[in-house]
Amino acid sequence: MSAATLDGGPATLDRIRQYLVGLKMPRALEALEHILRRLERGEISALEAIDALLGEELTLREGRRVKAALKIGRLTTIKTLTGFDFSFQPSLDRDRIMTLAQLDFVDRHEVVHFLGQPGCGKTHLAIALGVEAVKAGRSVYFATLADIVGSLAKAEREGTLRERLRFLCRPQLLIVDEIGYLPVIAGGGNLFFQLVNARYERGAMILTSNRGFSEWGDVFGGTVVASALLDRLLHHAVVVQIEGASYRLRRHAELIPENTRIRPITTPPPAPRRRGRPPKARPADPETNP
Ligand code: ADP
Ligand code: MG
Repeated sequence: MSAATLDGGPATLDRIRQYLVGLKMPRALEALEHILRRLERGEISALEAIDALLGEELTLREGRRVKAALKIGRLTTIKTLTGFDFSFQPSLDRDRIMTLAQLDFVDRHEVVHFLGQPGCGKTHLAIALGVEAVKAGRSVYFATLADIVGSLAKAEREGTLRERLRFLCRPQLLIVDEIGYLPVIAGGGNLFFQLVNARYERGAMILTSNRGFSEWGDVFGGTVVASALLDRLLHHAVVVQIEGASYRLRRHAELIPENTRIRPITTPPPAPRRRGRPPKARPADPETNP
């Protein structure tokens, strides 16, 4: 490529700088000199110079946007799909995860369940899909079930349950981590049901659990609320069962007591569709208050 002379000279250059300041394009302003030098040396064409200038600014802004969105969405521990070793989990279909990363499930308001024993990568995959969604411009919010139920219970006590539900309905993708590690607090099953029902067919969710669906009665304090939850959460759902062992303990498998090693989580067929009113929390209800 032949070297280009910069027609217009210093005055034009000054004006370009002022434009970049006025347009609040600090990165482009910073890169201007270098890009012009490459243009003068004939290393790039005028078109490529414009491309580089705008590209620099957009990259900066995208980086900032993603960083802010990850923070707002509570995705503070970053996990990626490239950082996931699929060879460690042969039961997991890589293509299936990569299809999920295309995010059609988010736009179709579907629910993705990651089931498996502690350490098998459920949270990693959930976060990695959340990061993909943020990069693609979708709004995401990550929380554990205990946090969500706790915040709903607090809001209920303070008379702001509606607002809290609305807040949790806003993100296009809600990630609910750690279903089943602890049973929810009394009344928590009903509060979570209200959220699930409000998001049903309106927003996507990713749920992670170390318990099979048949055990949700224990987790949520009753089979009535559990089957109402599963009714919604299995209707438009993708269930990804990870059969493999803990990645955390991969070098220490022999140290784990036999009786705590992996048992496959049995997945019963989805609950039949039942419409109707959500189950009410009643003090006398043996289901919700055993
Ligand atoms: P779970 O949520 O199923 O209990 P995590 O997703 O928290 O497990 O995984 C435990 C740790 O091991 C995390 O640091 C995670 O990044 C890592 N990890 C799990 N599985 C893999 C894998 N297949 N490849 C790379 N890292 C993994
Ligand atoms: Mg986890």
